[in-house]
Parts: sequence; structure tokens; C-alpha cells
Amino acid sequence: VAAARAALTELVGDRADEWDRLGRIPEPVVREASRRGLLCAQVGPEYGGAGLDSRDNGELTAHAGSLCSSLRSLMTSQGMAAWTVQRFGSAEQRRTFLPRLTGGEVVGVAFSEPEAGSDLSRMGTEIRRDGDEVRIRGSKIWTTGAAYADLLAVFGTFGDGAAVVLVPTDAPGVRVERLADPMGCRAAGHADVHLDDVRLPAGRLLGGAGMPLAMLATSALTYGRLSVAWGCAGILRACLDATTRHARRRVQFGKPLAEHQLIARHLAELTVGEQVARRCCEFASACWDEGSPQTGTQTVLAKYVASREAVKGAAAAVQVLASRGARDGHPVARAYRDAKLMEIIEGSTEISQLLLAEHALSESM
Ligand code: FAD
Repeated sequence: VAAARAALTELVGDRADEWDRLGRIPEPVVREASRRGLLCAQVGPEYGGAGLDSRDNGELTAHAGSLCSSLRSLMTSQGMAAWTVQRFGSAEQRRTFLPRLTGGEVVGVAFSEPEAGSDLSRMGTEIRRDGDEVRIRGSKIWTTGAAYADLLAVFGTFGDGAAVVLVPTDAPGVRVERLADPMGCRAAGHADVHLDDVRLPAGRLLGGAGMPLAMLATSALTYGRLSVAWGCAGILRACLDATTRHARRRVQFGKPLAEHQLIARHLAELTVGEQVARRCCEFASACWDEGSPQTGTQTVLAKYVASREAVKGAAAAVQVLASRGARDGHPVARAYRDAKLMEIIEGSTEISQLLLAEHALSESM
């Protein structure tokens, strides 16, 4: 992990705010992160990956979250796609695609559509087998990383069930339209994707085709939720560091801000938020690493807690830094915008609440 952390620190340097303002991470940085296996570090060495367990990959993801949520978003997507290939791909598909994801290529994961946000059962993208080919027709929105991507893991209906197909972004019939001015994670390459009767060899269809949508989607989302949760723990760390640094130095009313008790309360609450988010992530990753049946619920819980704490923590950080942090180009302003979006993705706060309530009901007599 130490080497991977150092590589991320070196790749990002002090440029995250510049990338945020530009709305773009330089392509060589994204490629290099992929080539070093940093975007999907749980993929094993047999496929060119670092082979980290969930806990260590979580630490790496938190580090990325503390530096640059846009790059961390690419890690979340790439890791979700890699996990989906590992889980549902055939041995041949794993051998074909995983080394590409640890070798410089970039992949986006496309679920959402104009009519299918929280309710993925409304997905209209149709994937069907036609002899030796697979054909895809539909439109996706907000696909993270699509503006950089070589491949897209496209989810759609397949007969009575669902399927995932790996679509090259340069295939005839694929059009990627970069999303203008997202509120946060501005350099994450979000784009809408149009798939106009795209025809590909059938080997692009992952092995699980025809499975229930809930099973396919939940598997990918479980990885995604944990990754977002760790990213939020990183946002909290960065906010806590920026806030304590500022509160020590800035003097008002004759003493440092840190010595004003109402500011100390912000520091205490940020500390609690960061620790609670972290503990939930650590527990969910331990469940993942043990293959525990609790993994699904614990990843929902971790994502729910960490994203809400990140929203509160980033708001507190802006409050303490006040005019110093209240402009684009400052890490806490970026954290404030990025954190809010973490309450929307991979199952919003409300959807997480519904899932947690369902869990409570299933556990009680
Ligand atoms: P809606 O589903 O319309 O929900 C609107 C509001 O209603 C929300 O607050 C929601 O929580 C609430 N709500 C919905 N249903 C219920 C209910 N039953 N009970 C109570 N409240 C409810 N999609 C991808 O496929 N791939 C990506 O890579 C990707 N990246 C994204 C990155 C960012 C930064 C963002 C903001 C979005 C991204 N998305 C991506 C899309 C994301 O998955 C959707 O925004 C999300 O699923 C919510 O869907 P929606 O925006 O259509 O909101």
C-alpha cells in the first residue's frame, strides 16, 4: 500500500484544484494511474494488478479521496468494472479484459438512464444476442470516466433478465457526450452515452447474461458503495487537516480560532465524523475480505454514514475557513461540492435508508 500511496501522491501532486477548475485530469495522468494498477488495485497479480485486499484498497482509496475526488471516482468505476468481470466473466474474459484494466486502459460503468435513476428496473437499454454477435441499443447518462474511457461496462435488459456487455467507446454506433459543468468531482469525465444499435462479437457479453438485474447490479454496487465510503473517509481526513491547520494559525479576538470553544466544537465534530466513517469502512472491508454474508448491508451502512459525515464535515470546514475556503480553487470548497454528490451516487441516502430499514425488518421477529 505504501508504494501505491506514494505513486498516487506523486501523480496528483498539488494539482487537484487546477484539474477541478479545468474540469479535466490530464490524459497521461489517468493512463499512468491505470498502467500502475492504481485504479483497480484489488485485481490480482496474475492479471497485472496489485492484488490488495479490500482493507488495503480502502486505505488507498481514502488517500485518493483526500487528494482528489475526481481521480478517486475513476478508481471507483474501474474497480466496479473489474470486480464485475472477475465475478461474472468467464476465465477467458478475465484473461482478456483484466490486464487491460491494469495496463493503461480506462473503463466506465453505465447503469443510469434518463428514466432509470434510483429505480434501475426502468432501464430501457436492450442487449440481445444475434448469432455470433451481441447488439446494444439505448442511452446512458452520467457515466463517470466515460470521457476518458476505452471501454464501458454497459448494463441493460437481456430477455427476461439483465446483462453486462463490455463496449469499446470507438465501436460504430457509440457516441460519448461529455457532461458540462457538474457541481462536483468536476474532472471525473462524466458523460452521457448513446448506443445506436451497436454490434459486437458475442465474447463481449459477460458470462452472467440473463441473470436477475438485482443480482448483477447489487454485485457491482457493493464494490462501488464501499469505494465511495472510503473516498468520503478521505474527504473527511483532508477537511480535518485543513481545518485544524487553519484554526491554529488564524487569530481573531486576540487568540487562535482553535481556542474559541465554538470552533473547537467544529474540530471535535469533524474528528468524530472522520473516525466513525473510517470505522464503518474498516468493518465493511473486513466483512468483504472474510466473505461474510453481512458484506452487502455493511457496505450500504458504510456508504450512508461516510457520505453524510463528509457532507457535514466539509460544510464545517468551509465554516471554519470562512472567506479563505469559500472560493473555487480551495480544497475545502472542492470537498464541499464533491461530498454532496456522494450522497446521490451508488444508492442515494434515501435508497440506503430503505435498504437499512429492510435489513432491520428482516432481522427482527
Ligand atoms: P432519482 O432516482 O430521480 O431520485 C431523486 C430523489 O428521490 C433522490 O433524492 C432519491 O434518493 C429520492 N428517491 C428515489 N426513489 C426513492 C424512494 N423509493 N423513496 C425515497 N426517496 C427516493 N450512473 C451510472 O450509471 N454510472 C456512473 O458512473 C454514475 N456516476 C455518477 C456520478 C455522479 C457525481 C452523480 C451525481 C451521478 C452518477 N450516476 C452514475 C448517476 C447516479 O447513479 C444517479 O444519479 C442515482 O442513481 C440517482 O438517480 P437520479 O439522479 O435519477 O435520482
